[in-house]
Amino acid sequence: MYLEIAISGIPLRKTFLYESSQALPPGTRVLVDFAGRKTTGYVMGQGKPREGLNIKRIIEPIDEIPLLKTEDVELAVRVSEEFLSPIGRIMDLFFSGAAHTGRLILTAHDEKLRFTEHLKRFPITHVLRDLRDGVVSLEPATRQAKTKKKIVKLSASIEELSRQRLSKNQKNVINYMLLKGAEELDMLIQRTMVSRQTIYTLVKKGILTIWEEETKDEWVLKKDVELTNTQRRIVENILEDPGTPHLIMGVTGSGKTEVYLEIIRRLLEKGGTALITVPEIALTPQTVARVKGRLKGLEVKVYHSSVPPTERARVWWQSLAGKKMVVVGTRSAVWLPFSNLKIIVMDEEHDESYYQETDPVYDAVRVSELRHEITGVPLVLVSATPKVTHYHKTLTGSWKLHVLTERPVGEKPHVEVVDLRTQKKEQRILSPRLAREIEEVLRKNKQALILTVRKGFANYMVCGSCGHVFKCERCDVSLTYHRNTKLLKCHHCGYVQNLPFRCPNCGSFNLLARGFGTEKVELEILRRFPAARVMRFDKETVGSYAEIEEMVKNIVEKRCDVVVGTRIISKGIDAPDVEMVAVLDADRNLSITSYSANENLFQLLVQVTGRSGRGGAGRAFIQTFEPENTIIEAVVEGKYEKFFEDELARRKLFDYPPFARLIRVMALSENRELAFSFLEDLKKDLGIESLGPVEAPIPKIKNKHRIQLLVKVKKEMTKITETLKEKLNTRSGQIDIKVFVDPPGTFP
Ligand code: ADP
Ligand code: ZN
Ligand code: ZN
Repeated sequence: MYLEIAISGIPLRKTFLYESSQALPPGTRVLVDFAGRKTTGYVMGQGKPREGLNIKRIIEPIDEIPLLKTEDVELAVRVSEEFLSPIGRIMDLFFSGAAHTGRLILTAHDEKLRFTEHLKRFPITHVLRDLRDGVVSLEPATRQAKTKKKIVKLSASIEELSRQRLSKNQKNVINYMLLKGAEELDMLIQRTMVSRQTIYTLVKKGILTIWEEETKDEWVLKKDVELTNTQRRIVENILEDPGTPHLIMGVTGSGKTEVYLEIIRRLLEKGGTALITVPEIALTPQTVARVKGRLKGLEVKVYHSSVPPTERARVWWQSLAGKKMVVVGTRSAVWLPFSNLKIIVMDEEHDESYYQETDPVYDAVRVSELRHEITGVPLVLVSATPKVTHYHKTLTGSWKLHVLTERPVGEKPHVEVVDLRTQKKEQRILSPRLAREIEEVLRKNKQALILTVRKGFANYMVCGSCGHVFKCERCDVSLTYHRNTKLLKCHHCGYVQNLPFRCPNCGSFNLLARGFGTEKVELEILRRFPAARVMRFDKETVGSYAEIEEMVKNIVEKRCDVVVGTRIISKGIDAPDVEMVAVLDADRNLSITSYSANENLFQLLVQVTGRSGRGGAGRAFIQTFEPENTIIEAVVEGKYEKFFEDELARRKLFDYPPFARLIRVMALSENRELAFSFLEDLKKDLGIESLGPVEAPIPKIKNKHRIQLLVKVKKEMTKITETLKEKLNTRSGQIDIKVFVDPPGTFP
């Protein structure tokens, strides 16, 4: 028989025909000879022999039964069609988590066996069933370096303690614990200089308790909450209508998380898996802690690229087995091979991290929506600031909207605008009003978050005599001045040069730093408030997952008074003592040349103002040159519907999503003419409205010219898709073509 096979890893948007002696169902992995090499292929379905084709036989099946279901294969096909992404690479996404299976050990009745051996010996259906039922368990072959932390807590009251006869060492431990409340076991031993035995004696006496591997946030989480009537109604509405995607909209702190955790708790009573996605795990350690704390008795697994590969493989197999658990993951988690999925919750659904901009391109929210359509799995999307296109779906009735307006604890922040036009030039970074507020925050021993668009010291360097701007030669963008290191840096390609003494154009020494970034703001605050503990939070100061986590922890645990940062701080910080937040330069966001610039500014302002007042009353300040801007007005007055109305009207007028699909085709090449002519040809072939070809907002990166064509598709996608696919499959080696369907607007 003939099979259509998608080839792993290749950039082509088509399948290939192979012959097979066995009937292999869709989703089976097979070994094939492709272009002279042994490669993995995926069976996509049966095929018909095409004339004049030399059809090869597959070498052998890799799996005895397909690990993916027909539904998964259908999902891959639809995603690859919609985003014009190579089908083989999309199929690869399903298996990326299984790569390190070899280091897993399977344990059954105290017997341990290499998982790969086990898979060879027993039918896979049995293995998966045993995994699901917990008859066997999977563990990493080597213990990870990070062993489980043991947390010690005091469990006796002071009264009880006074009745006990205690040794001097024991008293030391208790005094220490009375001060700290909870402490890691090793740290406790180190600090009090007692033996491990002493601690365990106190545990036996019931004075201390020891927990394993809990994060601090979990022990902070005290009691179960009683849902408000509104929250309860939303829970019921969603449970009653699993056939429609649901969007929960509400400001930060309005109780959205409690709502979806309750839904998950109910749906998993009879087993099955739940998926919660967050944009970046690093920014949301608290979400993970909340889930673990609230859904007690349920296994909670974390799945993202910083999780060790062996642990990822473990979650992969458990998803396939349909184990009762909650997976908290980033966008890649939507590709786990779930076999008993009960619900998908996507938190911060508006976040652009859900859109994968590297090959294979896809939008994880859309992937989930398609999975919902194909399999009927309930889908819940959550945000304070939904994407305009998603909000529109609730107006047309394809999604249902649920709004939470009140905060159960804390109050809505009071938002105020500072008009920069009336400020003296030197006070445009920190207006007198803002300076007074910071002073107040410091006096009350609270915290402030200050947000600016740019990192670095100044936006750019310019020659005061001839106006020459220092630019990156490879990228055609201005270089950013970093004062600490005395360097000019390109934030797009990483190019670095020493701070010049004179202008290369006219020789003048009169070089000026213009604009400002986080470094300058930090310095400005320190100059005014030398005693303040100021921390800078941007991509310069934090790189890795661990560093971000550390930074968030420092803020939450109040090791700083003022945080100065870029957009990154508008995301995951949930600190009760943040009383004031400020956006220093709201206007600079509007200058981004993109159809979604308005939406991005709106999201930024709402998200950042929502960071204040979580534990009490909060204040937010927006500094702007344009206070009458309707977006800023909508945020200040809390009239979010008004923003959506205005923005939808504008998009309708200009045929932007959701009223048309927007396809951005980019041609990258060292040869500028070639890139242009490729897109000119494409434009002719498509024969529909398109903008360009023009230079992209950043015309050059790493010596490659970036030319783009924006195609607006109002009706039939099929013809456009076919034409594009054809072009993409026959492109020349000198140009790199990238296609983004409905991309978030801020791509440069
Ligand atoms: P969101 O997800 O909208 O940011 P959360 O669900 O995190 O909001 O709720 C914000 C805070 O309010 C949390 O500390 C949460 O435990 C608390 N909270 C939410 N709902 C209730 C409730 N019904 N009663 C008491 N506290 C609640
Ligand atoms: Zn000059
Ligand atoms: Zn550069």
